[in-house]
Amino acid sequence: MISVDSYRATVSDLLGRSPVTIVPLAGAAGLVLAEDVHAGVSLPPFDNSAMDGYAVRAADVAGAGEVAVTLPVADDIPAGRVDVAPLEPGTAHRIMTGAPLPPGADAVVMVENTDGGTSSVRISAAPAAGTHVRRTGEDVVKGTLALHAGTVLGHSQLGLAAAVGLAELAVYRPLSVLVVSTGTELVEAPNPLRHGQIYESNSVMLAAALRGLGCRVDVVRSVVDDVGEFRGVIEPKLAEVDLLVTSGGVSAGAYEVVKDALTGQGVEFRKVAMQPGGPQGCGRWDGVPVVTLPGNPVSVLVSFEAFLRPALLTAMGHTDVDRRRVRARLTESMSSPTARRQFRRGFYTPTEGEVTGLVGPRGGPGSHLLAAFTQANCLIVLPEEVTEVAEGDEVDVLLL
Ligand code: AMP
Ligand code: MG
Repeated sequence: MISVDSYRATVSDLLGRSPVTIVPLAGAAGLVLAEDVHAGVSLPPFDNSAMDGYAVRAADVAGAGEVAVTLPVADDIPAGRVDVAPLEPGTAHRIMTGAPLPPGADAVVMVENTDGGTSSVRISAAPAAGTHVRRTGEDVVKGTLALHAGTVLGHSQLGLAAAVGLAELAVYRPLSVLVVSTGTELVEAPNPLRHGQIYESNSVMLAAALRGLGCRVDVVRSVVDDVGEFRGVIEPKLAEVDLLVTSGGVSAGAYEVVKDALTGQGVEFRKVAMQPGGPQGCGRWDGVPVVTLPGNPVSVLVSFEAFLRPALLTAMGHTDVDRRRVRARLTESMSSPTARRQFRRGFYTPTEGEVTGLVGPRGGPGSHLLAAFTQANCLIVLPEEVTEVAEGDEVDVLLL
């Protein structure tokens, strides 16, 4: 048996690092920036008004208060105006939020402190110089680092890239993954089930989980347990993908189609010291990385968490690839097989004012208990050497 940690490293090594590619901003959400971005313009690019109001010289309205100061309105400056005339002393320009401040003006009086006049304006507040003015480069100075390589591109980062004038970004290319479910018993809805058949669910879960990481995903919903059929359907598709992920057909029984088809072809099948998800395989088929997961749905999800998720995130440039780990006190006793790391589905509740929260199992250890997984928000990790834990014991919890 191989340890969880060493198998995790094997899968990560197999996937390596994805190449850098250029994508439009619209296709970059969730991906990792591969190169530093320097601002091509300052933000704001010019001094502008933070308010709808009147651009003035602060000195001209210094006496405004109970007794208003009246100034002629010499110009009107909506946002987007590019030919703004200087402000002559003793005058005001009506100005809108985001419009360029006229040369000579040093403050903006907000419209609420005026009578809103268009030919002349009564001003009843005396702003200090700089009031309601957004200075050039206050946010970002042209030429400086706006986003550093390694940044995960969320919506705010993409907004900043757009704001400094970029249309595309260099990112680690999202991996393209082919997901294949195997099993003669698998049926796709809305076909009716005959006794002995089940609805296929693994590919739906895997595809969603992989897309959630930013991968491009293709799915073969099910292949029957026949080596010739499996090879014939899947091998021609390998050339188009970076990774093949299969489920089912890798354990110790007969009719283990994935194991039978890929043993001796560059894929190694081994037992990992974990429960669920012990039977695993990985390697290359026709040069393409392959990760073969067991068939039980919970084994699929736990394998995804333990191996695929960190390896794929690392490959696509992420550095923060681990789920947050916290300590929690068990609300129930549990047992775990010897010499295997057990991942139990649990529900974690933080306790106010304390470092450790509370966690209780959701469902038993059975790897077919998919419904219980949907009610879990964490995995409870019981280490290899632990066989029994009691109510009140502290355990490690991975927050999903
Ligand atoms: P296997 O690893 O192929 O022996 O499958 C283990 C268990 O998982 C069996 O009960 C299968 O019927 C079930 N199983 C395998 N693949 C899927 C799938 N794609 N969707 C739902 N259940 C599956
Ligand atoms: Mg099977």
